[in-house]
Amino acid sequence: MQPMIVAQKRNLLQQILQNEENEYSESDRVFYSGLVDWFDEHGFWTIKQEFHVDKAIATHSKHSAESFNETQIEKPSDLTFHATKITTLFTSTSGKIKYPSIHFWRKLGELQFYLCGSLSKTPGVIRITNGQKYPNQEIYGEIYKDGKGLFRKDTSALFKKEIQSICEEPIEEAKMRGINIGYCCFCATPIVTKESLAVGYGPICAANWNLPWGEIREELVKI
Ligand SMILES: [Zn+2]
Repeated sequence: MQPMIVAQKRNLLQQILQNEENEYSESDRVFYSGLVDWFDEHGFWTIKQEFHVDKAIATHSKHSAESFNETQIEKPSDLTFHATKITTLFTSTSGKIKYPSIHFWRKLGELQFYLCGSLSKTPGVIRITNGQKYPNQEIYGEIYKDGKGLFRKDTSALFKKEIQSICEEPIEEAKMRGINIGYCCFCATPIVTKESLAVGYGPICAANWNLPWGEIREELVKI
């Protein structure tokens, strides 16, 4: 079996648990479901927890060797996605902004990506929400430090598609709103200068997020 990333293990374990014919005892089933819930809440497992998860998966593979299709495990689940461009962007703010966050306005509504702070249960994880605070907050997924994203189980296909397209070109997506509406998507303040309008964000945010600013003339020449 190929080594699996932890999010894939979580999805596989969930998949096995959802199959009522799994070979786990009732108490194991409760224990393993608890591990899935714990992962969903915290975004990681401890070494000990992951050991139990590996054991659960191994038990399942052994018992269902005939019906078990290995390619099924290696195929990334529809709950996982790639978001290295997002993690790179957020990493560039390190030591510069306390609460980095980006707002994207899409046809289906607002999507906010924010970095969980050091006091949160999941420091360093980027959370994707509807931009609201508790209790109106909806969480669509999380992005881990290695750039791997994991959608929440109940996130609709439409939202997944939007989030995936943002993760492919986050800077372009961020600029678009700034250029079209005149609001910086990083700090949500109005954009005032020509240079800022050309890129869709202001000079302070450009410095904080390591983005080009003020090179409008140069760019025009290149075109
Ligand atoms: Zn700004």
